[in-house]
Amino acid sequence: MNPDQARRKKAGGSGRYDRQVLLPDIGSDGQRKLADATVLIVGCGALGCGVADQLARAGVGTLRIVDRDVVEISNLQRQTLYSQADADRAAPKAMAAAARLGEINPDIRVEPVTDDFRASNAESLAAGVDLLVDGLDNFDTRYLLNDLAVKHGLPYVYAGAVGTGGLVMPILPKGGGQGQAVSWDAPTPCLRCIFPEPPPAGASPTCDTAGVLGPTIAIVTGHQAAAALSLLVGRVADLDRSMHSIDPWAGEDRRMRPGTPRQACPCCGQRRFEWLDGERGGAAESLCGRDTTQILPAAPGPVDLDALAARLNPHGEVRHDQHVLQVDLTEDRVRVTVFADGRALIGVGDPARARTLYDRWVGA
Ligand SMILES: [Zn+2]
Repeated sequence: MNPDQARRKKAGGSGRYDRQVLLPDIGSDGQRKLADATVLIVGCGALGCGVADQLARAGVGTLRIVDRDVVEISNLQRQTLYSQADADRAAPKAMAAAARLGEINPDIRVEPVTDDFRASNAESLAAGVDLLVDGLDNFDTRYLLNDLAVKHGLPYVYAGAVGTGGLVMPILPKGGGQGQAVSWDAPTPCLRCIFPEPPPAGASPTCDTAGVLGPTIAIVTGHQAAAALSLLVGRVADLDRSMHSIDPWAGEDRRMRPGTPRQACPCCGQRRFEWLDGERGGAAESLCGRDTTQILPAAPGPVDLDALAARLNPHGEVRHDQHVLQVDLTEDRVRVTVFADGRALIGVGDPARARTLYDRWVGA
């Protein structure tokens, strides 16, 4: 391809983006900005799949996708990039997503990373990116992503979904957006302005204990992708900055004004990056000589073991008193022991797998 053809292709000259270029807020200028953009998608479960699919089709030039898990049969109900074949061979999600996205749009670049997103690799994984997308299922990693966004002044599209409801909010951190691909004058609150501390371990429902409705994911990721595209083409002033709460099952759709950044916020107010600096955030360590990993939660207990037992009962055989709960999980065929302070022992030797199981069944 000669340079002219390359430029035409970047600007959508192949016809692929015709209907999108027609939109007055995008046009060929916006299409060029999308082609030049790099987006980091952290987590490629239900949310990550939905956003990655839409950004790939829209022609975002580079998608870097980080996920530590493999595809399982119970993912297919809502994780739209994966197939039965991916589940049958337990394909790593990042790799399976990259393969599928390559079929959808071979003109873009997809960089799959099969790893745990953590303090020690977060900054290198975010090198050169213009925008961060939240495809996560746990608060610990979200605070890490929020630290990264605030420290480096990167826009971050937060989202979460469990049960039939979901939340979406774009975060434009204070002091960010200068001299970068996406720029803004008026900042929004960061995640810690709104939720100063993570919920205590075991306090919140997870997709695995409460379920999740596929259509909710479609709506939440639609709003997430719209925010990402709006920011990447430079449509910042008219961006919907609300904290958007959606429940299509209950027919609820609410927008809350997020207000302005909190002066006392430890992250964007005082610029203390506790998760990124590794001071906080859960730890996973294999126990020597045993096929067991210990998980230390980011926000130590107390855990309501009665409530946790009630949530886990449908999923395995649960025994508990006020100090400790033990469950033999049917589907994952693993024993999980949770102490009242949130510490847990997971019956697998691989720390990444153990963390997945903890987030899935105990939740942070
Ligand atoms: Zn803040």
